[in-house]
Amino acid sequence: MEYQVAFAVALSAVLALFLSVEMQIHSARTYPVISDSTLKISNEDRAIEHLSEALSCKTIGNATAPKGVSDSGPFKRLHDLLEASFPQIWRQLGVEKVNDYSLIFEWKGANSTLQPGLLMSHMDVVPVADTDVPKWSQDPFGGAVTDGFIWGRGALDVKITLVAILEAVEELLAAGFEPERTLLLAFGHDEETGGTHGAKAIVRRLRERGITQLHFVLDEGGVVLTDGFPPLTRKPVAAIGTAEKGQTTVEMSIATAGGHASMPPLDGSSVGSIAARILSRLDRSPINPGLVAPASDMLAAFAPEAPFYLRPLLRLAHNGLFGVLLAQVMGAMSPEASAMTRTTVAVTSLEAGVAHNVLPQEGRILFNSRVLPGETCSGVVNYLNATGAARDANRVSLRVLSAQEPSPVSDSGGPVFETIRRAILEVLPSREGEMVVVPHLVAGATDSRHYTELTEDIFRFAPLMMNKTAGDLARIHGNNERVRTADFLKAIRFYMRFIRLAFARAGV
Ligand SMILES: [Zn+2]
Repeated sequence: MEYQVAFAVALSAVLALFLSVEMQIHSARTYPVISDSTLKISNEDRAIEHLSEALSCKTIGNATAPKGVSDSGPFKRLHDLLEASFPQIWRQLGVEKVNDYSLIFEWKGANSTLQPGLLMSHMDVVPVADTDVPKWSQDPFGGAVTDGFIWGRGALDVKITLVAILEAVEELLAAGFEPERTLLLAFGHDEETGGTHGAKAIVRRLRERGITQLHFVLDEGGVVLTDGFPPLTRKPVAAIGTAEKGQTTVEMSIATAGGHASMPPLDGSSVGSIAARILSRLDRSPINPGLVAPASDMLAAFAPEAPFYLRPLLRLAHNGLFGVLLAQVMGAMSPEASAMTRTTVAVTSLEAGVAHNVLPQEGRILFNSRVLPGETCSGVVNYLNATGAARDANRVSLRVLSAQEPSPVSDSGGPVFETIRRAILEVLPSREGEMVVVPHLVAGATDSRHYTELTEDIFRFAPLMMNKTAGDLARIHGNNERVRTADFLKAIRFYMRFIRLAFARAGV
């Protein structure tokens, strides 16, 4: 009886909660799309040329070379091109080079008591393998402008933001804009190879200059998914990264007696049997999903846009009980949705054996894990030990090769997020109400992780219009990287608007 009463009370409590949350009027602010003179680009063709020229520089880093660069020519050429393209910035904002190749600019604000805001990008790109060059319809380092696109490695990741930010600042300087808050620009040169000589050194230099606190950082990370986020919405979705996952690579070594391949052991003690057991245990029992910020914030932000039957559930994304349920659903939905709700563990390398007729004495498995905010790299090691190694523990040892903890989660309810959201909604859609802005968890690593000691407010958004169905996401680090010229011009306008909103007298 007592059990039945308790059950009835619990059920009505859940129902009451459900109804009360559903009845709350969730009204995120909307902003009209603007197209006034403050967004006018003085010479659009020249701007397109500037990006095209930047794409023609083969700025590829080398993690093992001094200062992260073995071929300095393309970086120097890029610096020269940028200086020629943006003469006012070079004249007025005082360029400072860090480790020869990274660049810092400072546009002093009228009010020196305000903490500076910092916009960042990076100048390096990933290489294009010789075998991939024939798969491109344009020269990857030619900067071709054709069919309404600008082509080349870096068109999306991420010389587009480098050039768009500089275009925006050059326009604002010409227009006589005077920032109230100091605006810093920081462009690293080795993001793709770790950021040690670039972003990390820039942060050190800023501290040496007495800048110990930033109001916010805006880096790459989230993009606009123009084909939406079905089934939640088909409207274009602008995803602002408020956190990024950690990552760790762990090596598992297996050691056994080995022997002749003609007489394999019966007790499952061969490297092959042990590896098979470990991998199947891990496959059967992945790390439990959980719905934490930013994924929970993202689902809640989708609520007003989603089909009516999903709205109540989405509005309960912050509720522990329903959060678990939603995480289970998302965990099974798609690799992307699953990655937002759990620490993933992927096998990236399997090695064993010296000859076709010898049982190996040693084996090696590499695990690459992406760690959810709130969880830790050591938690991944515990999981590999407890779930994977389990009863084979005496033959297995683990070694952590690299570990980067997940970033803190920035505030998606604060003024900086709202200002980015406003600039997006005022500039990027073609009509009011046509785009949805949500907080987002970035699965990869960006240079912004080096800035966590300077600010809690790190936002990761690049104004790239990406059509997932058309395969645009695969162009990043892939073949035929390109950006629509109209979208590049939109990106410039986004930064012009954002800087006006965030750095003006009445800014955030
Ligand atoms: Zn990048």
